[in-house]
Amino acid sequence: MNRVKLHNKYFKLFIDAESIQSAISKIAEIINKDYKEKSPIFIGVLNGSFLFTADIVRKFKSNCEISFIRLSSYSGTESSGNVLEVMGLNEDIKGRDVLILEDIVDSGNTLVKIVDLLKKKQPKSLKIATFLFKPNAYKKDIPVDYVAMEVGNEFLVGYGLDYDGLGRNLEDIYIIEE
Ligand code: 5GP
Ligand code: MG
Repeated sequence: MNRVKLHNKYFKLFIDAESIQSAISKIAEIINKDYKEKSPIFIGVLNGSFLFTADIVRKFKSNCEISFIRLSSYSGTESSGNVLEVMGLNEDIKGRDVLILEDIVDSGNTLVKIVDLLKKKQPKSLKIATFLFKPNAYKKDIPVDYVAMEVGNEFLVGYGLDYDGLGRNLEDIYIIEE
């Protein structure tokens, strides 16, 4: 598909599924090396990171645990800037090597909230992997440790990312048409 319509907006093909998978394979290789002996806990941030989490953990070759958290910060195509509560972490992460798996890091507001909350639980280490990173929008000091792909500030959908609930199931990434 070269073009999709979600609600009232059109989006055109931007990153195909093959390129997505090869970018993910590259960071998965590094994550495999860095976490080989660590039995990490991967924490996917719902809803957007469900596909990225599934792809990363399937490429991870050592023992690991997988969990998900959820928060809500976005409605429509513009970041609202304020982030709601984090829900769903039942595992004790004290003393564990934790890797957060994000779909996209934009301003970094969401990430700061998650990192603050998880740090209070005293993990042994806490790192961040994101599928997409918007370097021109990122305003925080926290390093993003693993980035599969860098993109511009345009609004994207697909591969877990939605526009008002639609588009998460698309296996390619699409960019909004102006
Ligand atoms: P931040 O808090 O870093 O500004 O934004 C993070 C969240 O905003 C992401 O988890 C995602 O839900 C949403 N977001 C940021 N950029 C995009 C985008 O281009 N497309 C979609 N669908 N969501 C985005
Ligand atoms: Mg997200």
